[in-house]
Amino acid sequence: MRFKGKMKEKIKGKKIVVVRKMGILLLMATLAGIIVVSQKTGEYLNSRNKKEVKTSGKLKEKAEKEEQTVILDSGHGGRDPGKIGTQGTKEKEMNLCIAKKVERHLKEAGITVIMTRTDDAGMADSQVEDLKERVKLINETKPVLAVSIHQNSYPDPSVFGTQVFYYTHSREGENAAKVVQEALQKVELQKNREIKANDTYYMLKKTEPPVLIVECGFLSNPEEEALLCEDAYQEKLAEGIANGILSYLQI
Ligand SMILES: [Zn+2]
Repeated sequence: MRFKGKMKEKIKGKKIVVVRKMGILLLMATLAGIIVVSQKTGEYLNSRNKKEVKTSGKLKEKAEKEEQTVILDSGHGGRDPGKIGTQGTKEKEMNLCIAKKVERHLKEAGITVIMTRTDDAGMADSQVEDLKERVKLINETKPVLAVSIHQNSYPDPSVFGTQVFYYTHSREGENAAKVVQEALQKVELQKNREIKANDTYYMLKKTEPPVLIVECGFLSNPEEEALLCEDAYQEKLAEGIANGILSYLQI
């Protein structure tokens, strides 16, 4: 009996050891579980917090990595004022104001921007030479897209609205024009016109990369001319153009 009693004690002792071991294992498993869950929660919260920055950071990285270059051309300049508005607004000045605003947006998105002019001076003294210089710059730089900014004019003062022109024989140009005109639609301008093909403009005809001419509005329409002079309206236009360019570049 004494022997049996010892056996019982031994078995009892083993059971206690087993139970203790199981307890420790369970505790370890629970701790491991807690660690994993808290890590995952941390990652999730981190990703949630970072999402906004991450998206823009990633896109900027993509743009910089691919070295996407866009040429922004402010139409006219120097001796060539471009169209003159009903209130005397000079097209060349408005083009530059809007182009600078577009430049700012694109640079913020990590795009390399080349401006054909950053002040009043054109690229050459004569109008013909000036256009040739601009075309040369576009063909030599080979940007993913060149956007030339202008203001329109028409004998009938009731005509107004924003319109994007592309070279008739450029599918890429047409594509880009559609995307930019759509983006302009979203910023709610005075009037959004339809894209238009053109095969006579020198800049469209003589350039290899896709080129768009954005006619922001009509200086021959007094109401639109007044709007085009407003900084807030210029901002809207710039935002629309920049968003369109970024969409076209799929950024
Ligand atoms: Zn012009």
